[in-house]
Amino acid sequence: MNNIIRHNWTKEEIISIHSQPLMDLLHQASTIHRENHDPNVVQVSTLISVKTGGCSEDCGYCPQAARYNTGINGNALMSLNEVKTLAEGAKNSGSSRVCMGAAWRNVNDGDEFDQVLEMVRCINLMDMEVCCTLGMLTENQAKRLAEAGLYAYNHNLDSSKDYYKEVISTRSFDDRLKTIENVRKTNVTVCSGGIIGMGETIEDRAGMLVALSTLNPQPESVPINALVAVEGTPLEDQSPIKIWDMVRMVATTRIIMPHTQVRLSAGRKQMSQEGQAMCFYAGANSIFSGEKLLTTDNFAPDDDIEMFNQLGLKPQKPFVKHPKPNSVLMEESQFKDMNEKPKWSRPKHIIERNKLAQAKTRN
Ligand code: SF4
Repeated sequence: MNNIIRHNWTKEEIISIHSQPLMDLLHQASTIHRENHDPNVVQVSTLISVKTGGCSEDCGYCPQAARYNTGINGNALMSLNEVKTLAEGAKNSGSSRVCMGAAWRNVNDGDEFDQVLEMVRCINLMDMEVCCTLGMLTENQAKRLAEAGLYAYNHNLDSSKDYYKEVISTRSFDDRLKTIENVRKTNVTVCSGGIIGMGETIEDRAGMLVALSTLNPQPESVPINALVAVEGTPLEDQSPIKIWDMVRMVATTRIIMPHTQVRLSAGRKQMSQEGQAMCFYAGANSIFSGEKLLTTDNFAPDDDIEMFNQLGLKPQKPFVKHPKPNSVLMEESQFKDMNEKPKWSRPKHIIERNKLAQAKTRN
């Protein structure tokens, strides 16, 4: 791998990279991409929503927040067998990674977390990379996940520190960083990115990239999501972003984080194959496959196989970038359930559009 990793990027430098003429930006990003990755290999992940909806948080983009009327009913945590069956299907359709998402504010010790740990063990033993996105996490919980065989933990920063306050009032940006710090105390890799199209400025996008790129080490994986404006959420009226915004964001991410896997995540269904191809050229090297991405629509695996054939892309094998973790059995675990009741913050500042969306639900 080439390119020295810098952890001192400034917002001004990032804005200047992001705003250069598109052909120059693409050339720079693609050159760095080729120096550090096989440009014809794309990692494919499948996202399983192991616990959907009913979330206590007020994230303005999220249809799973219980306070908004989005037609999503909360359900219980999936069984181990259900998850195993879905993971087998994902493996057969070419995914090397399963990401399990639970609509929780934070992890609570107890039976449900123990069940998630069993899911992690089960999928790791199927020789797939396992990722979880379960909300905020203590150090002991991170260690228990690592011991079960977790490969990656997803915890997005969503936006810049300033704009975060315009989207979420039930937890702070610093809580997000604290969870990432807890994950970094283990060998679990970090997946953290954000969403564009929430009404933020280019400065906010650059601010988010400053926050991610100045982490040391930088996240192994950075998802770039385009907002899918779901009816009933506070951001329902946001216009879709243009493909050029996505391409510029992917290319800039690639330039400042050369070793990271850059993921095309939510909003891919709204992109043409040509648009996606331009993102791959700009340095994206991962996608989520499967008809649903948590609750929003995504391409079916067959559509992606057809696109890969069209573009001559190959799916990445598991454990290429990092070795496969060991799974320690629950009985042999050295990190016990501490029955922790962590005190994550609740800033509760007022976000008018979140309040309005909540009020509509009551009427
Ligand atoms: S993004 Fe996560 S934490 Fe926020 S409301 Fe949705 S499920 Fe809850």
